Amino acid sequence: MLKNDQLETWDRENFFHPSTHLAQFARGELPQRVLTGGSGCHIEDRDGNRLLDAFAGLYCVNVGYGRSEIAEAIAAQAKELAYYHAYVGHGTEASITLAKMILDRAPDHMSRVYFGLGGSDANETNIKLVWYYNNVLGRPEKKKIISRWRGYHGSGLMTGSLTGLEGFQKTFDLPLDRVIHTDAPYYFRRADPGQSEAQFTDQCVASLEALIEREGADTIAAFIGEPALGTGGLVPPPEGYWPAIQAVLDRNDILLIADEVVTGFGRLGSMFGSGHYGIRPDLITIAKGLTSAYAPLSGSIVSDRMWKVLEQGTDAYGPIGHGWTYSAHPIGAAAGVANLRLLDDLGLVRNAGEMGAYLKAALTEALGDHPHVGDIRGEGLLCAVEFVRDRDNRSFFDAAEKVGPTVAARLLDQGVIGRAMPQGDILGFAPPFCLTRAEADEIVAKTVRAVAAAGL
Ligand code: PLP
Repeated sequence: MLKNDQLETWDRENFFHPSTHLAQFARGELPQRVLTGGSGCHIEDRDGNRLLDAFAGLYCVNVGYGRSEIAEAIAAQAKELAYYHAYVGHGTEASITLAKMILDRAPDHMSRVYFGLGGSDANETNIKLVWYYNNVLGRPEKKKIISRWRGYHGSGLMTGSLTGLEGFQKTFDLPLDRVIHTDAPYYFRRADPGQSEAQFTDQCVASLEALIEREGADTIAAFIGEPALGTGGLVPPPEGYWPAIQAVLDRNDILLIADEVVTGFGRLGSMFGSGHYGIRPDLITIAKGLTSAYAPLSGSIVSDRMWKVLEQGTDAYGPIGHGWTYSAHPIGAAAGVANLRLLDDLGLVRNAGEMGAYLKAALTEALGDHPHVGDIRGEGLLCAVEFVRDRDNRSFFDAAEKVGPTVAARLLDQGVIGRAMPQGDILGFAPPFCLTRAEADEIVAKTVRAVAAAGL
């Protein structure tokens, strides 16, 4: 570990940080934090701060920090065999075991796992598989992908196009064509006054049907969605949403990709969001919670129906032309095996469900009547507080007022990390699954103080 006092200068002069105001950081106007350790729900920095991380990194350190079981599995794999590729039938005990463990936990109709490194590349894989599938079936025109406004699916070329958030597209010449967007299933913001959740679901379904009608079902290959919206605002779907959407897709022979990068492996209190909401996907994207971010690893879980066509394709065209050097990296796979075991051994998925319900109820109790709190929502350990200018007529603050970021900053002043979600004044929580009641109480008490300190 470097202990040198030039670290801040080196950081500002050499390091290109993701999702950062580059000029402000270079000029020293943005704070810098150098992390040095972590344990359970807490991280530590080199200035001696110990912070309660109520967002589990980027909702990924699901088993919590400092798990020696995973660290030891990684070290053992690195000593035994740090790397070999997975092309043309090569594997390791870890990668083969992990594929089996994933399929044992996934919905019954899933068939194989392709491994990548992160959520973005896994979704790139999924789009290629969808296009390949339709080429093998002799439907070269059926290629468009429907995504939702406020969906988040990564920041690559295709995945940045699927992502329905302005900040990830403008000035990057995205979206690419072949990507079309439909309504965000965001009841609090999008429903008309007096509309019930079920009526709002009908509206989302009607608007999807109209889009399919306009574009032509024979030009649309797939629909991609997170079971519960993540980065777009932490929004569980309105009542009856997924079965109704699935029925439209089935009728139009459109594949369904469930992006479970956030929801996979327990965040909603169920192993997969697909099972939680009764979704029957053709592809499932997994990443973050697969290894609890102890090593980079992602995956595309492929259904029986798609797998049959992929096999048919290689009989017709030869080996599939898709592979990364680091697909099924042994160190990531070893981390994944140890992580999934830990989830089971410690009953962490159940705890995520129980503590999620507790956290949401406690936030509602503490802030539910606040004049500037419009909505408190969540499912499992995915929870959000949305701020409004006026809760009676549901009007919002201007983004320039930075209400959400200010509340998050006042919370951080007290040693708790929540996330100001990128679009809207939404304070998000997605803590590690080992969260205790005392930690949940601390999050709530400090959030109440942060709201007051932000002048609301
Ligand atoms: N899909 C979802 C639902 C995500 O939340 C994310 C990242 O937050 C991604 C995909 C992209 O994953 P990555 O950042 O690992 O590329």
